[in-house]
Amino acid sequence: MLMNLCEAGDAVLRQKSRELSPDEIVSAATQELIASMYETMRAAPGVGLAAPQIGLPLQIAVIEDRREYIENLPADAVAERLREPVARHVIINPHITYISPDGKASDLVPHAQAVFFEGCLSLPGFTAIVPRSLAVRVECLNERAETVTIEARGWYARILQHEIDHLRGTMYIDRMLSRTFMGRENFERHWKDVPVSEVRRQLGA
Ligand code: ZN
Repeated sequence: MLMNLCEAGDAVLRQKSRELSPDEIVSAATQELIASMYETMRAAPGVGLAAPQIGLPLQIAVIEDRREYIENLPADAVAERLREPVARHVIINPHITYISPDGKASDLVPHAQAVFFEGCLSLPGFTAIVPRSLAVRVECLNERAETVTIEARGWYARILQHEIDHLRGTMYIDRMLSRTFMGRENFERHWKDVPVSEVRRQLGA
């Protein structure tokens, strides 16, 4: 079932979501919810969707970066972002660890080495440059309530950080370089093909 998307200004996007118990995860209701989230993510289309974005303060997010989303993008942009297809999957009750280039792990502040434009289905029509950690490790449960460890780099790591932020009431506007915040139309018109370092220089970010 297609779900309505919450947007900035809906309080649910600013709450900390609650964890699910294993019994709850394998229940028919949660399985139906996950199916609806996949359907809603694909229809948007988006590469991730967190339960608060459909109004539910639950620690569930779905992720899928399809080959067809990537294959028509400029090859150098794809390579620079370390963007590769990610098969559809769900993360539940995630714990994220940010990994720095020298291999140090931190639960707290992301090591910001990947600096690119990012968007969100809950802020339609806008985009901004958001520094993210290049690599993360996520421990979570899957749809069968089994423990899963995900090691991710590049764009997939960015998607994980973005979705897990949603489960803690954080949106990209809390982490963005605010001087680069802009409407999609201006992004397409002026900045789409400009290197991020040059965008930052021109906008004073
Ligand atoms: Zn989002």
